[in-house]
Amino acid sequence: MVAYLDNAATTPLDPRVGAAMAPWISGMAGNPSSLHAPGREARAAVEAARAQVAALLGARREEIIFTASGTEADNLALIGTVQASGSGRHHLVVGVIEHPAVIETARFLERQGVDVSFVPVDGFGRIDPDAVRRALRPHTRLISVMAASNVVGTLQPIAEIGRIARDAGIPFHTDAVQAAGKLPLDLAGLPVDLLSVSAHKLHGPKGVGALYVRTGVTLEPIIHGGGQEHGLRSATENVAGIVGLGRAAELARSEMAEDNARLVHLRDRLIEGIRLACPQAYLIGDPFRRLPGHACLGFAGQEGEAIRLLLALDEAGIAVSTGSACSAARGAEPSYVLQAMGFDALRARGALRLTLGRFNTAGDVDLVLERLPALVGGLRPLATARA
Ligand code: PLP
Repeated sequence: MVAYLDNAATTPLDPRVGAAMAPWISGMAGNPSSLHAPGREARAAVEAARAQVAALLGARREEIIFTASGTEADNLALIGTVQASGSGRHHLVVGVIEHPAVIETARFLERQGVDVSFVPVDGFGRIDPDAVRRALRPHTRLISVMAASNVVGTLQPIAEIGRIARDAGIPFHTDAVQAAGKLPLDLAGLPVDLLSVSAHKLHGPKGVGALYVRTGVTLEPIIHGGGQEHGLRSATENVAGIVGLGRAAELARSEMAEDNARLVHLRDRLIEGIRLACPQAYLIGDPFRRLPGHACLGFAGQEGEAIRLLLALDEAGIAVSTGSACSAARGAEPSYVLQAMGFDALRARGALRLTLGRFNTAGDVDLVLERLPALVGGLRPLATARA
């Protein structure tokens, strides 16, 4: 049995979500665009899921566009906005610690001639809304700032940034892939125009996401074809995945308060326990405004050893991450997120990310607190690690 503390990378499927998806995986799942009975049933299932996602976000049903991932939702928000802005000069304002799904899309647009301003963060990974205001230009087409950081767990002041965007008449996108289902998001009152969600971060299936598009916001599709999803995302709908996202959203909505209270308690016990047992441990990210289940820690003087620590924990049956699963392919490169927060290149390799979800127990936290201190004690100090 593995103690899985990498819920920011992906979450285990809730069995209740699996049960809702099952008939759409194995049975006669019709094409939602077909007019016969199996088609109509599939359409009804997709629309029911749309209502469930809308309810989680305080949105209207017709404002939810299903996509194949959070990454695709982010791409649609950025590229779709720029392409809907016609010819002429365009400018985007993007947070510097955004997920690569936003950063790399912004860079792609930059290569097409779009101007991009990357807004800095402070030592806690927090964006100053005034820095967003100062970055605006007459040809700014979109502001994109994530709701919560996947790497350090810090929550961004999206309500304030949204108000700045609204005052300036500029659409505001937030990547809420880490926040949706974990923090109350009520788009009826929140000044957000576009918002990305991914099912696998809230105990739903992988390979399905959604983009909330506020009524009146214009986007150009990035995938062309049969005109599904109000013409914004052509392709036969992934009915099973969409049903899974819907059920996951419904469960997150009804269990959020209870889940969060438990997660905050487990997270704080984890952080305090590690700090007590390892005096060199320090918390990374905002100590207060952070995701309920998110702990990101550095070990002073041993930062270069994070990957060894991860592998040792893996052998001890504990699954964690060194910062972001999405950068695992890049090996021991320093994290651009930590560097943006002011860490030097060596310290920026040193984060250990432990993220809790609905299925973690006090026993998982106990196991980490039992095993981690000895493993940290066995690490080489920085000077020898470098030699
Ligand atoms: N945005 C954030 C903040 C994420 O954490 C992730 C996944 O790690 C994504 C976007 C990408 O979502 P997906 O895996 O559904 O493409």
